[in-house]
Amino acid sequence: MQCRSENELQILVDEAKHFTSKGKVADYIPALKRANRNSLSIAIYNPDGNYFSAGDISESFTLQSISKVLTLALALMDRGEEYVFERVGQEPTGDPFNSIAKLETSIPSRPLNPMINAGALAVTHMIKGNSVEERFSRLLTLVQKLTANSSIGYNKEVAESEFETADLNRSLCYFLKQHGLIKEDVEELMDLYTKQCSIELNCLDLARIGCVFSFDGKDPISKEQLIPTHIARICKTFMVTCGMYNASGEFAIKVGIPAKSGVSGGIMGAVPGRFGIGVFGPALDDKGNSVAGMKLMRLLSEKYSLSMF
Ligand code: GLN
Repeated sequence: MQCRSENELQILVDEAKHFTSKGKVADYIPALKRANRNSLSIAIYNPDGNYFSAGDISESFTLQSISKVLTLALALMDRGEEYVFERVGQEPTGDPFNSIAKLETSIPSRPLNPMINAGALAVTHMIKGNSVEERFSRLLTLVQKLTANSSIGYNKEVAESEFETADLNRSLCYFLKQHGLIKEDVEELMDLYTKQCSIELNCLDLARIGCVFSFDGKDPISKEQLIPTHIARICKTFMVTCGMYNASGEFAIKVGIPAKSGVSGGIMGAVPGRFGIGVFGPALDDKGNSVAGMKLMRLLSEKYSLSMF
């Protein structure tokens, strides 16, 4: 069954919206505190270029951890699978996204996967370029292509706010540097990482990126292969196993859609071979996922039988 009208989507949004009161807006990055806790919006992007939306999809938000999927794609394109996975593992952790615990206990000491902060920092370090500016602009170009929106940029205020307060991420970097997984200056890497997390878009842009992943890296409109098929598949697999942090198992059972969340409240979904989903709801649960956003994804999956399992 397909979603046929915006009314159908609006009914699901109305039902999920009650759950916004159960969550809390992220405040450890001070600039994120200003988000409206009650917002909830969704866009579904179809491969023929048509889309459905409900809620205020003009609201923009920052990618935060959703950017980890895109930096992974770029690092794999830059360095190849062998190089990347010698340095970052492929297994879920069961720990919070910013945990340092398993870095110390896994031998050899390397992050367990690219979707936790430690792994994402190691992956961002791998992006090629002669300066932070050049590396960031390569990432931004990829995002602009995936969204077919050349006006996408980053939110300077959010980037600076995270840069000034990211002591835990800095400590992950120093740990990785001690173990030879990061070689550059930590402040430079933090500059690049906080910028990648602050790339700003709306639900529709996010749904379009999801749609490209649904079609294994191929832009369904231009037919251009923006990300090589095998790399898009790796990214999608990580979305299933680690995309919703330490709630990924439950999400796979209840929703069954490859997805990636971020602490701004965004969720990107890629329904294989069908369409992309972009959701925004800044009220988060204690694991850092959008409470109402996850509920909405579940309702959507149940209504249209979207689970891949
Ligand atoms: N920028 C955030 C951080 O590193 C991203 C985390 C997230 O979205 N889970 O803390």
